[in-house]
Amino acid sequence: MGAGKSDADRRIGRRALLAGGAAAAVGTAVLARGELSHLWWRLPGVEKPRVAGAVDFLGAQWVAASPANYRRADRPDDYAIDRVVIHVTQGGFTSAVKAFEDPDHKAAAHYIVRKDGHITQMIRELDVAFHAGNREYNERSVGIEHEGFVERASSFTDAMYAASARLTAGICKRYGIPVDRQHIIGHVEVPGTDHTDPGRYWDWDRYMGLVRSAKTTKS
Ligand SMILES: [Zn+2]
Repeated sequence: MGAGKSDADRRIGRRALLAGGAAAAVGTAVLARGELSHLWWRLPGVEKPRVAGAVDFLGAQWVAASPANYRRADRPDDYAIDRVVIHVTQGGFTSAVKAFEDPDHKAAAHYIVRKDGHITQMIRELDVAFHAGNREYNERSVGIEHEGFVERASSFTDAMYAASARLTAGICKRYGIPVDRQHIIGHVEVPGTDHTDPGRYWDWDRYMGLVRSAKTTKS
């Protein structure tokens, strides 16, 4: 179950049950599909409920990052999300997961995409991950790491591009982010960074094409 969706569904389900009665449940569900549930959870001091182990992207596997590597937040209500930042791990998948679990690492991204297309989520999109090295960009973005090395063209596989494009398309849909290079950027494009990822072997034209087609097909 994908959690962005399942969280919302559970929320609706619980409220419907609390309302009681079939008629009330139907009414609540219809309203909740629109603006009501969103407005409800925007009330000051009301944080969105969380389900342990839930993910925001259908098919992602949850592995929790150390809380030292992100800041708990309530996005997109406290910070609007309008960027996706593409990273390369400069190492293997397992060592990237370990680094993000390590409280001394002081950095982590929301997702890591493995060479074979497997996706691990380590931080909820609600929260501010420390991945861009720029506070404002961390607050406004979702960070996606890709297993591999910037100087190695073979790092970037077909399966990786396809899976990452589906992930980014989903993020763009969830937050109404335009699919263009102003909003889907490399770490190298974050103001003030000295990082070079994803580097010259990352095929932006191909990636953006895949994101566009993933966005127009099913969610
Ligand atoms: Zn990076």
